Amino acid sequence: MPRVRGGGGQPTPALSRADRPSVAALVDRFGRVAKDLRVSIIEKCSLRCTYCMPAEGLPNIPQHRLLTTDEIVRLVRIAVEDLGVNEVRFTGGEPLMRRDLEDIVAGCAQAVPGIPLSMTTNAVGLERRARRLAAAGLGRVNVSLDSIDRAHFAELTRRDRLPSVLAGIRAAARAGLAPIKINAVLMPETLSGAADLLEWCLTEGCLLRFIEQMPLDADRRWARASMVDAERLLEALGERFDLTEVGREDPSAPAEEWLVDGGPATVGIVASVTRNFCADCDRTRLTAEGTVRSGLFSDEEVDLRAAMRSGAGDEKLAGLWRDAMWSKWAGHGINLEGFEPPNRSMGAIGG
Ligand code: SAM
Ligand code: SF4
Repeated sequence: MPRVRGGGGQPTPALSRADRPSVAALVDRFGRVAKDLRVSIIEKCSLRCTYCMPAEGLPNIPQHRLLTTDEIVRLVRIAVEDLGVNEVRFTGGEPLMRRDLEDIVAGCAQAVPGIPLSMTTNAVGLERRARRLAAAGLGRVNVSLDSIDRAHFAELTRRDRLPSVLAGIRAAARAGLAPIKINAVLMPETLSGAADLLEWCLTEGCLLRFIEQMPLDADRRWARASMVDAERLLEALGERFDLTEVGREDPSAPAEEWLVDGGPATVGIVASVTRNFCADCDRTRLTAEGTVRSGLFSDEEVDLRAAMRSGAGDEKLAGLWRDAMWSKWAGHGINLEGFEPPNRSMGAIGG
């Protein structure tokens, strides 16, 4: 039997699925219920962010190993109808690299009406597709943008595509994919531009969240000693803005919110490394190859694609998904001695 790791430094028992309670929802041994589904639909990307991808990109996944449009729609429907998922976000790699993205969105919107569908994207090329995506049923987008300085952006992403990203964000706003949330990963190179990024987001009406860099880069360069933490960010932002802590909007939302200059504008900080919030995690993840991951840091995966292609029915697939989530770890364990990053990097898991 595989072992599980505990985020709080507590030894956790050997894994057993036999003791999983017979309930429909995606429950785990620590009392959490997963309702927020992240669906990675591709490993390819138009950028090469240093904290995520290697310079040459991730190894190509042959087409036949990627979930098809219909398979994604089917699994999303099972997640919602049979497992209690109430929110779906498409991610990758870069979801815009899939030509059938509009079809995936439209298929899911039809299969699970009323369930919020969103997408995490780098926004490169979004300008041309924002309206079609909104028409297909996409509700809103989270855009990853770490710097509004063109040179810094190009250095960090290894691509000079900032103008396309900014055009994509504005097109998304025009198409009604709102509120637009901007995610920025904290890196030493971009810390000096953090206040400019916040200023830009306030002007454009976007909600900004900074995220501590996690050890999920393909190059495995992450180091605890050099990472920029929330405290350093607050110091940097504090030189331009007056920030007042307002806490977390809801317990499963990882961002701690701060009022900017007395509000009403806010900025969020996801201190994923220094303030562990795994105890409130309500996520379940599907990789582009159709495996379920119970968490970012566990390499244990359950292969729904293989089961589906060998004829498994909905109930069988739902049961496999429940088994996968039952084995979810207590926490990421980044701060534990002997921590090992997972085999897959963020771009290959789906952030
Ligand atoms: N390409 C899309 C994008 O960048 O928004 C979607 C996929 S990307 C892997 C999803 C999210 O993961 C992005 O917001 C990105 O900033 C975040 N991410 C990637 N690597 C990370 C890391 N090492 N630590 C924290 N967040 C990371
Ligand atoms: Fe691509 Fe997103 Fe990873 Fe950047 S964070 S390399 S945009 S997948």
